Amino acid sequence: MPELPEVETVRRTLTELIVGKTIQSVTVSLPRIIQRPDDIKRFEIELIGHRILEIGRRGKFLRIIMDGLVLVSHLRMEGRYGLYDKSDPVEKHTHVIFHFTDGSELRYKDVRQFGTMHLFRTGEEFTMNPLAKLGLEPLDSSFTAEAFREVISGRSTKIKPALLNQEYVVGLGNIYVDEALFRAGIHPEYPAKELSAAKLDELYEAIKSTLQEAVDAGGSSIKSFVNGQGEMGMFQHSFQIYGRKGEPCVSCGHAVEKTVVGGRGTHYCPNCQRPFTSDQSNEVKG
Ligand SMILES: [Zn+2]
Repeated sequence: MPELPEVETVRRTLTELIVGKTIQSVTVSLPRIIQRPDDIKRFEIELIGHRILEIGRRGKFLRIIMDGLVLVSHLRMEGRYGLYDKSDPVEKHTHVIFHFTDGSELRYKDVRQFGTMHLFRTGEEFTMNPLAKLGLEPLDSSFTAEAFREVISGRSTKIKPALLNQEYVVGLGNIYVDEALFRAGIHPEYPAKELSAAKLDELYEAIKSTLQEAVDAGGSSIKSFVNGQGEMGMFQHSFQIYGRKGEPCVSCGHAVEKTVVGGRGTHYCPNCQRPFTSDQSNEVKG
């Protein structure tokens, strides 16, 4: 599943490809992709004549911002966008086509069919699902060490599921949570409420640097992620812990282990990321 860096890469690519174009018509061939409005015909008709002004992002959601309307799009497992000429043959698994007045077409393909689109009036999108309850945006200036500590400290869950919870911090998935926890030297099952302020600050820095480096590298290519121009991201070559089961830890040389935390496959170094033990709670934390 694409995480924040991959969606950010798609956002940047779509910005180059479709900003300024005007929608002439829309064709939906798989109604369940469209979550709002309920009526597919209304979705198709409402978009006619609208011009793409900007491509935004909130967490893992793209915001295709038009004059008066915003289309909120989640790629989920394998959704992807591509720009085509109207004369190009339509490939299999193409479910939504935005026909532009200049003869080009933005096509949405989704083999797994889990992707979603919600159409809103501008501004309305933040007051309703799926954006209403989203947490801190980690590459935004509003993501401060204080805000992060406030949202994570005191949680009674393990730290990994806390980081995956999009109501606390958005954009982090399985890969970048493992990378950030490794960088901060925190065991994925450590109770969130037992982390010291200093350790939370380290984790905060690790989240920011991991995501920023991945964005700079154009997102990661895991399985089928391809950005809007069909380019593969490069960050997978920089993973320090994810997918490296059995390989030596880049920091200490101990074999990387894989376990399951909160139902998710989890990579960690048992030497660099020590589990919480109850006698630690009586010591000075950190
Ligand atoms: Zn290690």
